[in-house]
This record gives sequence, structure tokens and C-alpha cells, in this order.
Amino acid sequence: MERVVGRFRGASPGPVLIVVSAMHGNEPAGPEACRRVLERIEKDRAVFRGEIVFLIGNTRALEVGARFVEKDLNRVWTPEQVRALSRTTVTGTPVAEDLEQVELLRELDSVLASAAGPVFLLDLHTSSADGRPFLTVGDTLRNQAFARRFPLPKILGLEEQVDGSLLEYLNNRGLVTLGVEAGRHDAPESSEHLESVLWLALAATRQLASADAPDRSRRRKRLARAASGVPPVVEVRHRHPISPRDHFRMEPGFANFDPIERGQLLARDVRGEIRAPEAGLVLLPLYQGQGNDGFFLGREVRPVRLRASAALRRLGIGRLLPALPGVRRHPVRRQVLVVDTRLARWRSLEILRLLGYRKLRRQGALLLVSRRRYDLTPPDSY
Ligand SMILES: [Zn+2]
Repeated sequence: MERVVGRFRGASPGPVLIVVSAMHGNEPAGPEACRRVLERIEKDRAVFRGEIVFLIGNTRALEVGARFVEKDLNRVWTPEQVRALSRTTVTGTPVAEDLEQVELLRELDSVLASAAGPVFLLDLHTSSADGRPFLTVGDTLRNQAFARRFPLPKILGLEEQVDGSLLEYLNNRGLVTLGVEAGRHDAPESSEHLESVLWLALAATRQLASADAPDRSRRRKRLARAASGVPPVVEVRHRHPISPRDHFRMEPGFANFDPIERGQLLARDVRGEIRAPEAGLVLLPLYQGQGNDGFFLGREVRPVRLRASAALRRLGIGRLLPALPGVRRHPVRRQVLVVDTRLARWRSLEILRLLGYRKLRRQGALLLVSRRRYDLTPPDSY
């Protein structure tokens, strides 16, 4: 199976849009949408700026129609793992996903090395259960601005809860990224939604004139209708991690974005009942065999808070943080703050997030956070 579905380069230089689909091999709606869009671009011959590149994430898993062969390709993009890959040659019987990661990284690196403009990346997904389409947005202002161009609900902070997602890795390299969840794996409207997102993306990046994105306003309306009734922006606050030994079973009947009460029964495992630690919205309840996340809980974010956050970040208020009690700069890593939550009695993580910081890890009472490097401006080169 080919990793590059296809690419198209316009006559004039401009932005680059990378589209990754089938990071999970049981999600064929993404590649299908990509092929349709590529065919149409090639046929229409409209004025096109820059380049669009369509890549398959996990080719080996896609071939057998499984989420992954040996491990989840969307959990292996930690900086340590990526460094290790570039150093060693794979010996013995290689794990399928290690090969996938090496090959995908090589393609991404080559696109980034020749990029003449800003680089955007879409990561296309579908899910095991029915659900409304939505976007996952890494919390940078550049990502948020791109996400606002789509009439879909946005989930903020998902990438902070899981280690090693592709989007988090590429955010930290300065790309503008969005994850797209389009609906059930085999629902015909899932690939339709993904196709709509691709056309809207090409208009948002100005690679295509809005008028040249086929059926743009009809597609916009259809996406908005598919996502109606869901809060526009939701922030992830809690993840319920699981392992196969837990024998995790979600209680039946939960759908993405369902409101829940504090203490409500959500699932069961070998230890007994699992109840909601706080009120909010259920996100991504797990109803399939493979996966490490039982469910997430989120809360609606009001637009005024997003605007306040953007203003504070533009002012660079975060620079003043080390003056607060319990906060100091990391001795070696300049971007990292060490927060002693025994001394910092304010609602630390919430305020730090507002100022554009993300949680790296917790060590006892110490919270390590780092500022997002490309929150406001792209890197000089990728
Ligand atoms: Zn997926």
C-alpha cells in the first residue's frame, strides 16, 4: 500500500496543507475523502496556491482493516521516541508501527524541508460509535484561528491528556494542526463530512479561492447541521486511562458530548463501579476492544474566556509568572516552569492554561508546565 495517496502543486508558491488519514487502519473514510478531493482538484484546474499532500498514516493496519497491528500509531510521537527512531536502525523482527512511524516521519520531514509557506496539517479520524463530527484543537492561538473557519464543535486540550499523539508532536514543530472526527467508521456521511472539511480547509488557507471550493456553502451548512446542539467549544478536564487487565466496560447508551452529573455511573471494571468525579460532558466513550482511554470528561468553555486568554497571551502576561509564590523557572529548560502546588494556592493549572501553558507532567506536588512555543507566530523554518 502506498503511503502517498497523491499530491498537487499549484502554479504559484504558497501554504502547504498536509492531510494524514488512516492513522488508525480501521478508518477508511479518510483515504476515500482524500482521493475524491484530489481527483476533483486535478480535474477542475482552478487557480491553486502552494501544495496539498495526502498521506496514509498506518498503511499496514489499513491493509488488514485493524486499528493497529501491534500498537497505536497515534501514541508514539513523544520527543524521546522520535529521537530514538532517527538514531537506531530497526533490527530483528520489527514492530509494524515502528516501521510505519519511520516511513511517515520521513515523508513529513521531506514535505517540511521544502515548504515555502506556512504549513497546515489535518489528521482525519472516524469512531466506533455514532456521533456528531467535531474538531480536536491543540491549544495555540494559531490553531484556534484555523479551527474557527469550520462550523464544527471544538475540543481543546485532548492532546494534553494523552502522550505521543501526532498532532502534539507537530504542534511543537510549529505546524498549525487540527484533528477531525467525522462520525462512525462505516457511515456514508463520515467521508462526506471529511471531504467538506478538506474543501473548507483549502479555502481557509487561501490555497483555493472560496468560489473555487465546490459546493462550499452547501457543505458548510451540512456540517453545521450535523453538529447542531453541541456546545461550540469544550475543554477536556479528565481522562480515564485503562489497560486490558481492567476489563473496562462503558455503561451502555452514552454518546459523545452527553451531559452527566457528578457521581453518575459511567462504567465498570474489575475494581467495580466508575463514577464521574465531576459534572460535565462525556467525550469519546469507548465502545470498542482496542484503546487506552475509557472516556474523557469536558466542560463547555465560554467565548469570553477564550477572548480573555488570547488577549493575555498576546500581552505576554506569562512572563510575570515566576514572580508568583511557588513558581520558578526550570534550571535548564527555559520554556518550562516548575509550580509547587502547595505554595501556589491559586487555581494553578486553570490559570496557566489561560496564559498558554500546557501540563508536561506532575511529580508529587510539583507541576511542570511549558509555554507553547509557536502559540502566536510560526517558526522561521520547520
Ligand atoms: Zn482514529
